[in-house]
Amino acid sequence: MKQILWFRRDLRVSNSALLHYAKNEVLPIFIFDKNILDSLPKDDRRVTFIYDSVLKLKKSLKTLGLDLAIFYDEPIKVFEKLKNEFDEVLCSVDFDSYAIKRDKEVEKLLPLRRFNDSFILNPNEHLKSDGTPYKVFTPFYKSLNLITEASSIEEYKLNENIRLSSFAYDNTPSIKELGFEKQELPSFLYKDAKSLLEEFLLKIESYQEDRDYFYKDATSKLSAHLRFGLISAKEIFNIVKKSNVNNYEFFIRELFWREFYNYILFHFPNSEKENFNGIKIEWNKDEEDFKKWCEGKTGVPIIDAAMIHLNQTGLMHNRLRMIVSSFLTKNLFIDWRKGEEYFALKLLDYEASSNIGSWQWSSSTGADAAPYFRIFNPYTQSSKFDKEGIFIKSVIKELKDVDARLFHTENALSSNLFFDYPKAMVDISLSRKRAIELFKKAKDES
Ligand code: FAD
Repeated sequence: MKQILWFRRDLRVSNSALLHYAKNEVLPIFIFDKNILDSLPKDDRRVTFIYDSVLKLKKSLKTLGLDLAIFYDEPIKVFEKLKNEFDEVLCSVDFDSYAIKRDKEVEKLLPLRRFNDSFILNPNEHLKSDGTPYKVFTPFYKSLNLITEASSIEEYKLNENIRLSSFAYDNTPSIKELGFEKQELPSFLYKDAKSLLEEFLLKIESYQEDRDYFYKDATSKLSAHLRFGLISAKEIFNIVKKSNVNNYEFFIRELFWREFYNYILFHFPNSEKENFNGIKIEWNKDEEDFKKWCEGKTGVPIIDAAMIHLNQTGLMHNRLRMIVSSFLTKNLFIDWRKGEEYFALKLLDYEASSNIGSWQWSSSTGADAAPYFRIFNPYTQSSKFDKEGIFIKSVIKELKDVDARLFHTENALSSNLFFDYPKAMVDISLSRKRAIELFKKAKDES
């Protein structure tokens, strides 16, 4: 039996389903998928992150006496080359709509054995007693009994009896050959996921209290590592649960929002493009308004700082994601899909299910979404979670000597003669009122 171990979004050797279930002679592979890469901007930071992670995986596999064949091609073409030499392909399941289509094509050439190794749960399991999927987070989460149950989640041990197949493969392409420029990444991304987790365990007890203060370093910063499987979600769960720390439940709960959104997208694939709750909304289609939001030129300091920071680094704190998405969908009344697409282009940790689910949450169109009248006031938010304006000043350097109180009052900056800051593009209370009326009308009509 000769097997291909197709690494995709599980770029690790520790706790790997592929290395656990593999037998005898294997060829570990990674494919830089031309269909995806050709659609990305040449300065996409994620390509640098994946590229570095793939090289690290190759190195780790070598320490096990294996290796990684790295291809730059369309997956189907790679498997056309390999199909006569191998009997089956082992991979971890990928629920993205493109991945589902791709895997179906590959399956026509070679049998594909999928393992649930990118998420903790298999979305096919854990249905309600009536056999339908959960749509609300809390009962979904409670039904799992994760905190009270003593047992840990199954982990995967390496099968030490596997050996590298003798198949000759091409050399590793350079990042330039993939058509990309190497990008500078935020420094924490260079740390391995387990060290990040260890650092986080030292502050996990104050996570619940501190996690919304976006100028603090209070969260795990594990999302990009999780996205590409540099650590397994199951392993995070087990490590946290076995550690001697208090008050970790809140963190586990957040980890399960990732599971929940994956579960929702799996059971309701239409929610990738359509309002989950089915309401019909006439969104504002003004492209200039959208552009101002994207570029951080709204005249609302906290929104501008968050968007500029995203454009410069690929990062955005969860609370800021909630504030800018509420502003786009409720104050500017622009379709959540536009925001979702923009985040998909920019976020280092972009994950379709979490992004879609969270955008639908913010725009009150999703499963277990925010009620439509819950609209963040960006000024109240910045005064509550960054009173001294530390985050805003760190991003918009021209404002570093400004009295932070000016950030938290509508148009206080633009009316100050000493600064060249635009007037807010929208009146917060008027736009809030209009959004509530429009959402109410849409709800009543659906
Ligand atoms: P921590 O607070 O340390 O949380 C630990 C892990 O739990 C995260 O790494 C993440 O995997 C998961 N998690 C936490 N909060 C959420 C949540 N609300 N929804 C789903 N999973 C969560 N997260 C992504 O990973 N990819 C996305 O594309 C994405 N898009 C988002 C878009 C919007 C509009 C909003 C409001 C949230 C989005 N999130 C997304 C969720 C959340 O903002 C990030 O997971 C979090 O900021 C990552 O930082 P962290 O790893 O330090 O999180």
